[in-house]
Amino acid sequence: AVPVTTLLQRPAAIIGSPDRARHAKIPLPADLYRPERTNSRGIEFGERAALIKLLAEIAASKPDMHKIVDANAEQANAAVTAACTGFASWSRTPAEDRAAILDNAAGLLEQRRASFIALLQQEGGKTLDDALSEVREAIDFCRYYAAQGRKQFGTGQTMLGPTGESNVLSMRGRGVFVAISPWNFPLAIFLGQVSTALMAGNAVIAKPAEQTPRIAAQAVRLLHEAGVPTSALHLIQGDGRIGAALVEHPAIAGVVFTGSTEVARSINRALAGKDGPIVPLIAETGGINAMIVDATALPEQVADDVVMSAFRSAGQRCSALRLLLVQDDVADRMIEMIVGAAEELKLGDPSDPATHIGPVIDAEAKQKLDTHIARMTTEARVHFAGTAPAGNFVAPHIFELASARQLTEEVFGPILHVARYRAADFDKVLQDIADTGYGLTLGVHSRIDDMVERVIARLPVGNVYVNRNMIGAVVGVQPFGGFGLSGTGPKAGGPHYLARFATEQTVTINT
Ligand code: NAP
Repeated sequence: AVPVTTLLQRPAAIIGSPDRARHAKIPLPADLYRPERTNSRGIEFGERAALIKLLAEIAASKPDMHKIVDANAEQANAAVTAACTGFASWSRTPAEDRAAILDNAAGLLEQRRASFIALLQQEGGKTLDDALSEVREAIDFCRYYAAQGRKQFGTGQTMLGPTGESNVLSMRGRGVFVAISPWNFPLAIFLGQVSTALMAGNAVIAKPAEQTPRIAAQAVRLLHEAGVPTSALHLIQGDGRIGAALVEHPAIAGVVFTGSTEVARSINRALAGKDGPIVPLIAETGGINAMIVDATALPEQVADDVVMSAFRSAGQRCSALRLLLVQDDVADRMIEMIVGAAEELKLGDPSDPATHIGPVIDAEAKQKLDTHIARMTTEARVHFAGTAPAGNFVAPHIFELASARQLTEEVFGPILHVARYRAADFDKVLQDIADTGYGLTLGVHSRIDDMVERVIARLPVGNVYVNRNMIGAVVGVQPFGGFGLSGTGPKAGGPHYLARFATEQTVTINT
């Protein structure tokens, strides 16, 4: 069998360190998952072979790709009105029943994972490994929030109080939640948002990204089939304008958004300007994610982890590595090894199981990335410029900057920026990272515990990864979400997330 750590095919020049195997074997809580099926960390050889066969059958059967029609403002209004009615009965449905429906959805997703993988490849350009990890993550979200919901939304919590009085604190849904999601995890993030809001007792209006409407349509069908009433879950297709109209609607009770910082800001402004009840926003946004590599780091492991973090999924992960900061004593050797590993990556058709990197999401994304590459080619030192096939492909690039401060915005693709630092200037390195204002993911490669602790204490970052790659947070294991420009803070896939979608009520009875 292929070891579970082999997510990207390991280049021959790179020898894995024993540490990686240790990291990959963290057991998941038995009460939440069936890890052999749903752990998003790796693919077993047998499963890979079976999936490749199923995917070939699906491709041969020419799946029905029906037309997706954008909703207009009138339909969006009608959906909110219907959801308000749906909320009345869904919020009274016992938490145990809501959780059982999410478990059903997880079971259906598991049964139909091959057709979701095919759709993720066709519509989202995902490789086999990425698509399977994503389906597993979606399953994990449904099971995890079901398990957490049973704990948190079952019977209320009895509070201590004086004799002759009972005090019970309970959680309930807020009303109609608008869930706005991005194209880069069109199944996992979409279902993560929707399943949390539903588990907390809200009715939901889901607005997926315009690039990935079919995946969202199939996911909503599956949830309805699993038992979510059609009145409690509505799908509104369209671009950002329909998202903005939903946010403005006077009857909504909450917004959960994942996407760019810029759009999160505009939603925040729209909500703040509304009359009526104060509507909460849960926002998970982007980052200029850095990795710090000091002179004690293991070069083979660094190269492996950098390539995985910067280039997997064509760099289209919010957690992806954008800025590599390497101590100057070891920089030449590290960069040489990273370039060697990047050279081994195969770009191409995502339905070919040997492909490491598929296309970027659309021509607009390619154009934006090509413009950045052209600018960096003149302003920075080029260490690596891969070649891309025709189509919406962007090859991995590695540029060395004179200063980390040159990178001022999130570049959402397979482009790695490197800057060297002197050990004496280490505090300045930390300040440069802090000054980006983002705080999503951070990687540290060092074998000096004090240095690792210093970095963690100093930098306000949501997810820190030490001596491993910095992508692929696992539900219930690495709750995910950032600080500052990277989001409002709640951690998806963590125990505190559900409560953000709920209101709390205390009932005091004089007995
Ligand atoms: P985006 O452009 O901000 O779009 C996200 C969603 O918002 C889409 O459904 C979009 O609709 C909608 N939208 C656009 N304008 C809107 C408005 N004025 N009001 C309401 N909704 C509006 O982001 P993206 O390009 O899809 O995704 C990439 C970004 O997401 C990156 O910055 C990445 O870092 C971030 N991200 C963050 C996380 C995390 O967990 N922190 C996870 C994944 C991605 P249309 O696109 O359909 O027009």
